[in-house]
Amino acid sequence: MFHKIEHVGIAIKNAQLAEPIFNALFNQTPYKKETVESEMVQTIFYKTGSNKIELLQALSEDSAIAKFIEKRGEGIHHIAFAVDDIVAELSRLKKEGFQLINETPKRGADNKLIAFVHPKGTHGVLIELCQEIGDELTLMTGE
Ligand code: ZN
Repeated sequence: MFHKIEHVGIAIKNAQLAEPIFNALFNQTPYKKETVESEMVQTIFYKTGSNKIELLQALSEDSAIAKFIEKRGEGIHHIAFAVDDIVAELSRLKKEGFQLINETPKRGADNKLIAFVHPKGTHGVLIELCQEIGDELTLMTGE
């Protein structure tokens, strides 16, 4: 089941330029910065009330974020929803005919299992599913 919006992802070109702007906007500094090697991105997280904003900067020209910015410029990149069973949701969405970017969940930033649904089938909105990694899953993946 889909729950709350876990975060909104914003593609930025340059963290050194963007971070002071978002610090000023939110009147706070990020609570977390994390490099996701598999995605070749640097992530910067803010909390606004119960919401989170994730800034994403490409670490390589091959990164999906670099390609996105090249095509569409900086701005809102994806909306992430919290789900309680990401495998079940992916299977349900596949049956519904949605095009999945990730057929199986992978390790994302902020201690989450994540998977993306292609924006082609969702009127241009890239959707991310996120499941918080509990202790059992941490044991299973050995991390
Ligand atoms: Zn995200």
